[in-house]
Amino acid sequence: MTPLAESALLEVWDRVGTAPQPLRPAVLLDALRAGMGEVGDPADSLPVGRRDRALIELRQRLFGSRMRCAANCPRCAARVELDLDLDRMQAEAPPAELALVRMKGGTLRLRPPTTRDIARVLAGPASGRVEALVRRCALDPLPDPLPPALVEAASVALHEADPDAEIVLTLTCPDCGTAWDAPFDIAACLWGDILLAARRLLREVHHLATAYGWSEAEILAVPPRRRREYLLIGGL
Ligand SMILES: [Zn+2]
Repeated sequence: MTPLAESALLEVWDRVGTAPQPLRPAVLLDALRAGMGEVGDPADSLPVGRRDRALIELRQRLFGSRMRCAANCPRCAARVELDLDLDRMQAEAPPAELALVRMKGGTLRLRPPTTRDIARVLAGPASGRVEALVRRCALDPLPDPLPPALVEAASVALHEADPDAEIVLTLTCPDCGTAWDAPFDIAACLWGDILLAARRLLREVHHLATAYGWSEAEILAVPPRRRREYLLIGGL
């Protein structure tokens, strides 16, 4: 039995569907945890890699470890499908608390970016976003102006400190043989699973409400197996 009740699934669907895009992965994690009666740190304050690792673990518990993904070949646009086994996607290394970069006069300490950091940077100007992120995450005073080489080194160090923040899949096109790296977006995949499940459920509610005049709450109180039988009997 799934640890997420059907009414809670619909609440997750409501809450995440209206969340701004950059915050959506964190809202999804918070909403699922709340729906399952679990508590945790606010997801928008977690390093992105830790947030995504938690989403992978929830995806395994709610929908299993097998996952079908699709992408388009960048060369010939062919659709490439692959089956992922989330059990095999173990963390490369536990995230570090801090990223360290040597700079003139000492060491720069940075904390791995959170969803909140990324949303704030994306809300700002399109140019200089990496520098804006480095400025937000730096725990030590930065030289002014900030040398581009230091921004680059800090960006690399942040990536190494939180490797799960960007899980990359290597794909190969079966038609033209092109191989390329594609980012694995667990939040988008899990949101797709939630959308499918919620729409299936809402369709059932619609058919049963139309046929029998029951309310949504009354329909969700009927066990799924019995509901499906009503749908069959009614030819719905
Ligand atoms: Zn191709």
